[in-house]
Amino acid sequence: MNATAIPMRDVDRQIWASELEDFVPLRLYDVHVHLFRAGLDRSADPESAGRRLAARGFAEAGMALWRAWNAALFPGREVHGTCMGFPFVEADIAGMNAFVVEQVRQDTGSAAVMLVRPGMAPEDVDAFVRRNNVIGLKPYRVYSATGDVVDCRITDFLPEELIEVAEEHRLVVVLHLARRRAAADELNLADLRRLSRRYPHVQWQLAHCARCFIPHFLELAVGPLSELENVWFDTSAVCESDVFDILLRRGPRQRVMFGTDNLPAGVDRGKYIAFGYAWALLTEDNHRFDLSHCQPDLTWVVYESLRGLRRAAERNGLTPAEIEDLFYGNAMRLRGMVGRK
Ligand SMILES: [Zn+2]
Repeated sequence: MNATAIPMRDVDRQIWASELEDFVPLRLYDVHVHLFRAGLDRSADPESAGRRLAARGFAEAGMALWRAWNAALFPGREVHGTCMGFPFVEADIAGMNAFVVEQVRQDTGSAAVMLVRPGMAPEDVDAFVRRNNVIGLKPYRVYSATGDVVDCRITDFLPEELIEVAEEHRLVVVLHLARRRAAADELNLADLRRLSRRYPHVQWQLAHCARCFIPHFLELAVGPLSELENVWFDTSAVCESDVFDILLRRGPRQRVMFGTDNLPAGVDRGKYIAFGYAWALLTEDNHRFDLSHCQPDLTWVVYESLRGLRRAAERNGLTPAEIEDLFYGNAMRLRGMVGRK
């Protein structure tokens, strides 16, 4: 698939031209990218995530497809990124990691992160990291050793014996927090405080603004998290301008990094919306709104995220240099910290 095959609509082109083109810098580094083969989902379920992704055109979501999407979404921009496999519940994890490493070799500006789960032998993870220039580990809550994918704690899905490997190699850990209150959860905060101090050379990249899709959760968490100097935030999939506002106003601006969660979450057509203490992805086919009074098209999640980010950046008076850092420089600084000393 090349860029011309990407299903861009007028609504997307209008939003890019009128709201984003002047904001998004010419050089981007996306710190949250998933590359995968849908067939690496080993689930036998005919409705499995892998089969659904294949049906949507993501059978082979490698470097070529990612580049095609980037060319359509961010015309004229140079894009590199940090790439990891897709954490299917029944993923062939070894196959996924091999795929990502092989794809990343096609782009010298990008880097690979290794999918890990409890039960993997630390020496195997260590060997894979050494051999393949891996810059980080990607655990995920669906692999929690407790079997509870909602209320699990960090070390339930990232055992400390694997964090020790990350400490040894000074790696990034791309962490999607679990638990219903995410970063505002006292146990998560206590765990992050303890782990970031115990493993000071691990850089903790908290995905989705520390999984704060709700501004209030970040209001509670931004103070304690800002004090932890090896804790970073990626902006992927968050669409609430107020979340970015809190992060840029009260958080460590030099540790906030642009991310998309592509493929495919950033190119879902919809928006992550917050209400009460909940959040959900609103899409074209999961609502019953009467939209006859307006133009009813939804746009890409990543465009909604960038709209929110632009408004928060403006409100907080980010300088052009700070905007460059948000999209590129901060991620380069993080990458510069990786590696055995
Ligand atoms: Zn992700």
